[in-house]
Amino acid sequence: MNSLIWFRNDLRIQNNLALKKAIESSDQLEAIYIMPNDNEWFIGEAAQWYLNQSLGILEKELKALGIRLNYYRNNASEILNKKITKENIEAIFCNQSSNPIQIKIDEDVLSHLPQNCQLNYVGRDTILDSETLHTKTGTYYKIYTPFLNKFNQVITQNKLEQQLCQITKKQYFNLSERTTYLQDLQLLPKNKWYLKFEKYWEPGEKNAQKNIGQFIQNHLHEYDKLRDYVSEDATAKISAAINFGEISTADLYQTLDQVLLTSNASCELGIHTFMKQIIWREFAKYSLYHFPDAYLKSVYQYCDNEVLWNGDDILLELWKSSRTGIDIIDSAMHQLYEEGWMHNRSRMVVASFLTKNLGIHWLKGARWFWNNLVDGDLAINTMGWQWVAGTAPYSAQFNRIFNPIIQEQKYDIKNKYITKYLPSQPILNQPIVSISESSRAAKKRYIKIKQENY
Ligand SMILES: Cc1cc2nc3c(=O)[nH]c(=O)nc-3n(C[C@H](O)[C@H](O)[C@H](O)COP(=O)(O)OP(=O)(O)OC[C@H]3O[C@@H](n4cnc5c(N)ncnc54)[C@H](O)[C@@H]3O)c2cc1C
Repeated sequence: MNSLIWFRNDLRIQNNLALKKAIESSDQLEAIYIMPNDNEWFIGEAAQWYLNQSLGILEKELKALGIRLNYYRNNASEILNKKITKENIEAIFCNQSSNPIQIKIDEDVLSHLPQNCQLNYVGRDTILDSETLHTKTGTYYKIYTPFLNKFNQVITQNKLEQQLCQITKKQYFNLSERTTYLQDLQLLPKNKWYLKFEKYWEPGEKNAQKNIGQFIQNHLHEYDKLRDYVSEDATAKISAAINFGEISTADLYQTLDQVLLTSNASCELGIHTFMKQIIWREFAKYSLYHFPDAYLKSVYQYCDNEVLWNGDDILLELWKSSRTGIDIIDSAMHQLYEEGWMHNRSRMVVASFLTKNLGIHWLKGARWFWNNLVDGDLAINTMGWQWVAGTAPYSAQFNRIFNPIIQEQKYDIKNKYITKYLPSQPILNQPIVSISESSRAAKKRYIKIKQENY
């Protein structure tokens, strides 16, 4: 049987159930990656650099297995149907995605698929199936803690093992002719602003495994104590690797489970705290799956009322370009632009400042993050912004506003973060808004909106 293995955000060989099934079932196998032409929310600009590197590495790994990776840009259904006819393809294998954009693409593919070809979902991009986790009344979870409890109740060693597999070379695949090149995807913009990312990131499955191994050995035991300090190198920095599927989260979760068995009591809190972050990721994927428009509008629709968002675009530009006059905000925004990544606490602080103190709709901030993060993920970015903005059931209250000055004093030990990232010649030496006045004004706006809606 001639088959295709369709890669999405599962750019790995090991523990890739779809790839394993495709290898076992096929006489001839070709790999493909398809990017749509016209959807800004399919992938952000900085993440395109990461994708480019990761695909290049995957191409080599697949070649060693006798599998050619070809690249396409355009309508997935048209591309697949042409290949099916021309190359006598009888089966397409892939991991199921919880991303609403990919789900729509898949629906379109399925509705136009010729009868002689099947689309087979084998694995998925989450540990548990978002479709099957429900409350006692059959609704989906809207708050993290009950979801976490359910996750812990459902997860078993058996469930994790079902998602793991080793891949070995099948001798009789003949490497098919190369018909496309990675450059055909045009992932890298002409302006080479992304070149600096090479200093910070090592894409590829093997690097991801190495980096997570080092984190587990050196930092996991004190993750609970240090993870919030913005200047400390205390988190795993594996978000891009996870989002592109260079590591399977089921594999990671099982590894953590095993570390837990052999570690001493003083390390347990660090391991549990880290596991909870992996489950936050599950929850973000689950939430966007069940509310697929959330990346475009507030889950609480009344929160999109313009009364709540009275900040102007000049303030937005100052925020983007590290010119707010508030050291921790400007440092964090500089870190984002320089590294394509920002510490989680900094993400919360800058998002709170934009939405509450500057009164700018969370979607404008989410879009800037999306285009500047190498780890940009539709579900997590959406949840992160709506959580901080207070516009969804899973979020903090709108009137919970981070004070950036206090955050800086608490989480930037000895000003290390600011010393490292603050642009050397600040254009402003006083804040663009008064923190206390703008916080009071934000609370008033919110009270007004809530009164009008209840
Ligand atoms: C406004 C905002 C936007 C965000 N946008 C993204 C995004 O686009 N992509 C992204 O991967 N993360 C996003 N996050 C979550 C978090 O900031 C990053 O996952 C984390 O900083 C990545 O660094 P790390 O790998 O060192 O994390 P670690 O602290 O080492 O955590 C390990 C892993 O757990 C998961 N994780 C950690 N924190 C969270 C969280 N709060 N929610 C969901 N999963 C989490 C990630 O997969 C992460 O790699 C956002 C958070 C906020 C507040």
